Amino acid sequence: MSLAEYLARPEILRLPAFDLGKRDGNPFGSETIKLDANENPFPPLGSAGVNRYPEPQPIRLRVAMAALYGVAPDSFLVTRGGDDAIDLLVRTFCRPQEDAVAVCLPTFSAYAHFANLQGARVIEARLGADFAFEPKRLLDAVAGEANLKLVFICSPNNPTGTPVESADVLAVADALPNTMVLSDEAYLEFSDTPSLADEATRRPNLIVLKTLSKAFGLAGARVGGLVAAPETIAMVARAAPPYPLPTLCIDEALKALSPARRAVHLERIERIKAERERLAPLLATSPIVHCVHGSAGNFLFLEVNDAEALSRRLDTLGIRIRFRPNAAPGGVRLTIGTPEENDAALRAFEVPATAAPKQRRAELVRDTKETRIAVSVDLDMAEPRRIDTGVPFFDHMLDQVAAHGNFSLLLSCDGDLDIDAHHSVEDCAIALGEALGRALDDKRGIGRFGFALPMDETEAQVLIDLSGRPFCRFEGAFDATHIGAYPTEMTPHVFRSLADSMRAAIHVRVDGQNDHHKVEACFKAFGRALRQAVAREGAADALPSTKGVL
Ligand code: PMP
Repeated sequence: MSLAEYLARPEILRLPAFDLGKRDGNPFGSETIKLDANENPFPPLGSAGVNRYPEPQPIRLRVAMAALYGVAPDSFLVTRGGDDAIDLLVRTFCRPQEDAVAVCLPTFSAYAHFANLQGARVIEARLGADFAFEPKRLLDAVAGEANLKLVFICSPNNPTGTPVESADVLAVADALPNTMVLSDEAYLEFSDTPSLADEATRRPNLIVLKTLSKAFGLAGARVGGLVAAPETIAMVARAAPPYPLPTLCIDEALKALSPARRAVHLERIERIKAERERLAPLLATSPIVHCVHGSAGNFLFLEVNDAEALSRRLDTLGIRIRFRPNAAPGGVRLTIGTPEENDAALRAFEVPATAAPKQRRAELVRDTKETRIAVSVDLDMAEPRRIDTGVPFFDHMLDQVAAHGNFSLLLSCDGDLDIDAHHSVEDCAIALGEALGRALDDKRGIGRFGFALPMDETEAQVLIDLSGRPFCRFEGAFDATHIGAYPTEMTPHVFRSLADSMRAAIHVRVDGQNDHHKVEACFKAFGRALRQAVAREGAADALPSTKGVL
């Protein structure tokens, strides 16, 4: 008998097993005549597919999330957010009025909430000094408890931000072999603590909670899940409702997890972490803050002197934060927002925020039937540069543009390379041009023209006018049909696409013998020209045009 079976409520054991493996019997795919589920046959007047019930356990999403967390699909259960995962666990294992769960306060309130709903007792231990997790305090609090079914450990902890050492979670699991230990990793992506996901697939009493709400920005789609031994997953699934995840949410989650978007998500996490590190010392100088706790989440936990006055001031400024007086006197939890939002919060905390220059960055996703692309550019940062178009030579060319243009570029494309490189190259150029155009915004405070003249036996010249009027002239010819998988004939096309999507005039002239050199020189020269065209110059609000608009 598995531990999950041993611990499950008798009502759960009497339920039929949840069919986790299969799609619900559509051997003919979309051609299947579906007269089985009392659905409405007519296509929806809104989003495609929603007249049909979703899969009970969306298999593609399950596979994608399992891969994301590095575990096998049968060790992963997709749930309607992490909240639902907590509820399922409590309902699977806790008999009302008999069983208990344990929490380490202050922590996420949902653990006790769902336990109370189920009629389970909540045993409360407390975190140690500076909210550090101490296994002994928890083990002392539960000593002698015969019916302890679940222990909740939150790492990093909400609301305090404190991470829990993996060794401490495992020590609790070792000490309580007949209790399920849940390690809640909702915020783990913002910390340096390694995940226990892999360990959870091997230990019968360890479960890890995951969510796409935080690191993947999908709080509104309600997608999370549990990692555990397959027997535990199968047992918990019995408590799930028939169709827990709406089709639209499944689609959103699959989009968010598409390989093309991964780099942008990772970069956003880094930016949130950098903002957290910027804010913490600044908030420590606030006259109303007397303690800023080190945090490994996407939030900071502070203790303030006069929470009521702060609350009134925030109300008038339209800023919402969480007051957590039960966690600590004057305790507040501040989520890390955009730099502009964070600056507004700093002012509310009476910290003079140095008005950062307007950010010149843009992110965009562009999905078609042929390509799925995500791009992020920051014209005021030289790093990071990570480019993955699927066409290695084109990666190298775009890297040249960003390196010589002196801007940060993340670009990934998941395209139909099985046909050829055409769509990927073209669509990446369009997406990059659009992102550059957006990052430049109203073009105030920049120089308008750029040019360059490099290299070897080859001579290339690129002139740019960020005029708002798309135009492209390309003078040059190539003999080689391809450089690697990159079709040489795409070069004029790429500049044309860039001109159109950036709404710029781009003139390229190239002359030489070696086609590799010639293509590379065009891209390098373009980067150099762009560097000059977008460099901040003169007054921040000066427009480089006598027309007053570009
Ligand atoms: N765990 C923790 C520690 C949380 O703070 C939250 C949400 N705030 C969750 C789990 C659940 O997240 P969701 O339901 O959005 O997936």
